[in-house]
Formats: sequence, structure tokens, C-alpha cells
Amino acid sequence: MNFEDLNLAPAILKAVQEQGYTAPTPVQAQAIPAVLEGSDLLAGAQTGTGKTAGFTLPMLQLLSGRPGATSGCIRALVLTPTRELAAQVEESVRAYGKYLELSSTVIFGGVGMTPQISRIKAGCDILVATPGRLLDLQQQGFIDLSKVEILVLDEADRMLDMGFIHDVKKVLALLPKAKQSLLFSATFSDEIRDLANGLLKDPKHIQV
Ligand code: AMP
Repeated sequence: MNFEDLNLAPAILKAVQEQGYTAPTPVQAQAIPAVLEGSDLLAGAQTGTGKTAGFTLPMLQLLSGRPGATSGCIRALVLTPTRELAAQVEESVRAYGKYLELSSTVIFGGVGMTPQISRIKAGCDILVATPGRLLDLQQQGFIDLSKVEILVLDEADRMLDMGFIHDVKKVLALLPKAKQSLLFSATFSDEIRDLANGLLKDPKHIQV
């Protein structure tokens, strides 16, 4: 399979080509069509499989193809367990979205809030965040999650292992009911399955 077979917009394909990727990885080949058709997704994928592009590419395409693309509110939220992963994911969003009119921001704990607040106030379509800092800024009134169309929980198992289950649940309660949700996890404990069952509607299942 080639990236050209996945119905991605030319502006996205061009950015992918610039990364030097020749063919989609298995998780990309399965996740991209499922997300583009609007399905919720439950994906078993380790880091290193190309999962980031697996959710980022179709997310960018869906957002850029719908009205509201320049409205400056948070239309997609990606939650990650660590600041390193958050930064990496947002870097990928920027790279794959460089020819699109979508903006992104990353927020995580352990650093000052002021620059993050300024970036949020400037408006962003895609927010990549760790749960604690996200809740903190939301509780201070800087973040409106009521317009989120797409939610990604990346490395959900690590998020729970690190004790973020309560924070994740608080974030989920702030999101609109009608949205597309994607959950990526390397492993599936009962706790992850409970989380997935509460969140995902008729999800497509992928295991790589
Ligand atoms: P990830 O699992 O998303 O952290 O990605 C792991 C690494 O694979 C990253 O360095 C990506 O840049 C790279 N990668 C992602 N998709 C592809 C692809 N289709 N072909 C080659 N490398 C890729």
C-alpha cells in the first residue's frame, strides 16, 4: 500500500513525502481509513510503530476539511502521559500540517504557565497536553474544551500507570458528548478496557 491510496489531501501527502516515508506502517494503513470515515478507534500499538502519524494525518485531514478550521478554538485534543511525548506529538502535528491552515500548541507541567497561557490565548485548533497541566489551566479559565471534535488518548496505559486516571476522567467530563475518540495503548488491562468502554462508541479495533 502507498500513502496515495489512503485518500489523504495533497497538502498532507506533500508533507509526508518530505519526511521521507515511502509506505504507511501497518498501524497507519489501518488507522487512517478508520479515522477518516469518522469511526472511534481502539488501537493496540507500541511506540515506534508509527502510531503518531496514524492518528495525526487523518485528524489533520478531518479538521482542515470541515468549516471552523480558522476559528481558533480547540477542535482537537491529544492527551499524552509525559511532557516528552507531548512535545514529540506536537512536533509531528506541525510537520505533517505545515501546508494546512491549522494551528497547534503543546502544554505540559514542570515549566512556567505564562508562555503556555499566551499561546492558548492566541488560539489553537489542536492542543497536545498532559492531563495535570491541562486541568490546571482549564480550572483557571484559560481553556475551553466545549468545541472539541476529536479526542486522542495516546499511550493510555502509561497514562493510567502514572496515576492519571482521575485527571483523565475529569478531562473527559469537560468534553462534548458528540465527538470522535481514538484510544491508543500498548497493553490492555481491565482498567483500560473500562475506560475504552465508557468513552468509545462502536469503535474499530486495530492491533499491530
Ligand atoms: P511513532 O511510533 O509514532 O513514535 O513513530 C516512530 C518513528 O517512525 C518516528 O520517528 C516516525 O518519524 C517514523 N515513521 C512514522 N511513520 C513512518 C513511515 N510510514 N515510514 C517510515 N518511518 C515512519
